[in-house]
Amino acid sequence: MNVCQRCGACCAHFRVDFSIYETVGSGGTVPDGLVVEVAGATVRMRGTDHWPPRCAALTGTVGERVACGIYEWRPSPCREFEAGSDACQRARARHGLPPLTADDGAPATVATGR
Ligand code: SF4
Ligand code: SF4
Repeated sequence: MNVCQRCGACCAHFRVDFSIYETVGSGGTVPDGLVVEVAGATVRMRGTDHWPPRCAALTGTVGERVACGIYEWRPSPCREFEAGSDACQRARARHGLPPLTADDGAPATVATGR
């Protein structure tokens, strides 16, 4: 299990916004039922605009064991998010998790291997 599979903090910290063209209904991969409309051509992962935020696709317990239910179909912000980045460390801190170190073998992108 990689470090992200034991974390999930970023999926329960940030708003996850992206283009409607990433949704199935517009020719993309993200299931339509998992997004809410924001404005214009922008949509948001359902659950990430609540407080506390938690993506509707996330299963499990943050900081213990998690999985992305749409891992293969997740949107670009999730693919591009970097484990070990400042944003990652902020999300972890928000959930009371220690900062990642090189010893954690941080993967290149969020949710890798979930
Ligand atoms: S990686 Fe999956 S669970 Fe996490 S925010 Fe993205 S879609 Fe949601
Ligand atoms: S990218 Fe960072 S905050 Fe997100 S699941 Fe991985 S270790 Fe946790």
